[in-house]
Amino acid sequence: MEEITIHEFDFDLINEFFTELERQGPGSPEETIRALSFIGNLSNKTKIADLGCGTGFQTMVLAQNTEATITALDLCAGSIDKLNATAEKLGLQNRVKGIVGSMDNLPFQNAEFDLIWSEGAIANIGFEKGLNHWKNFLKKDGYIAVTYESWFTDERPAEIEKWWLDAVPEIGTIGHNISIMQKTGYIPVAAFTLPENCWIDNYFIPQKARQEEFLKKHAGNKTVEDMIAFMRREADLYSKYKQYYGYVFYIGKKM
Ligand code: SAM
Repeated sequence: MEEITIHEFDFDLINEFFTELERQGPGSPEETIRALSFIGNLSNKTKIADLGCGTGFQTMVLAQNTEATITALDLCAGSIDKLNATAEKLGLQNRVKGIVGSMDNLPFQNAEFDLIWSEGAIANIGFEKGLNHWKNFLKKDGYIAVTYESWFTDERPAEIEKWWLDAVPEIGTIGHNISIMQKTGYIPVAAFTLPENCWIDNYFIPQKARQEEFLKKHAGNKTVEDMIAFMRREADLYSKYKQYYGYVFYIGKKM
């Protein structure tokens, strides 16, 4: 039987759920800063694109830890409104601008950016396709830093293998993903796994209260019930199989 995937739920419903949360995917400020430590030559001239930025939690971490100018892009207009409001609240509006757009058809100039960032989002268009397309918008010697779902082991139990193959059909091991990075024209600079707190404390636990609230708000809505059941299963599977997979930060330099 085909497993249902998050992409099969209505995009607006998913966004209504997630835009009220601080983050829309696993991660943490500490790991964003760790990834940033591998990027050379950051200055007040640096231009960063943050793709699939969501409401911009990591965008603000990038802005607060660099002097760069940042363009943050997401398909969801509600997330971008929130991101721009947060930038204003933090006094970062002169360096941080959120725009609505799709990461597979970027509205940028060739070689416009020194750094392309993307946390938890590249799977929406595919790892290889994303690395290939985004390279056009990087200067020579520019950097890319993305988190991507990856296998930690060569073999996995069938239950978790099936779940991820349905969600991210091209999911691969860390070694495989590094080889794709090299094949698509980047020198691999670093790869490290996101620790469990990025998933549990910053992603699954904050969802719990929102799930209750959402079920109440949409009482009797079968699609919402299925979506929440899907999210709860995702959390259960993580606690059962977390030694087999996780997000990995991949950092590369354009050749
Ligand atoms: N980077 C944020 C974070 O880590 O909290 C959000 C990650 S969330 C898992 C994935 C994001 O990708 C969502 O905000 C979603 O709207 C966005 N997205 C999905 N498909 C997209 C596309 N084709 N172009 C731009 N953004 C997209």
